[in-house]
Amino acid sequence: MKPCHSCQAVIDEYILDKKLEVLRDLTVDDFNLCADCTTVVADACVECGGGVYVPRGETTVPDYCPACRADLIRRTGTDPGWTCDAVST
Ligand SMILES: [Zn+2]
Ligand SMILES: [Zn+2]
Repeated sequence: MKPCHSCQAVIDEYILDKKLEVLRDLTVDDFNLCADCTTVVADACVECGGGVYVPRGETTVPDYCPACRADLIRRTGTDPGWTCDAVST
């Protein structure tokens, strides 16, 4: 059992795993945060339609999930960041 880096609570991997279900690729092993300190938004990725992970302290919801961001970096060689400027309202 690992403690949460943010609130020091023991991480309940079962609850965290449920929360991370909408994300591609990321598992509880990638996180040092408990479910309470992890913000995940379902269906928000503009690439795959999957869930995105909102970094702690961020107020904007990312356009890319971690897996798609990694894909883009691999494909284009540049880091698109978490948001996609091409998408406008
Ligand atoms: Zn926590
Ligand atoms: Zn995605």
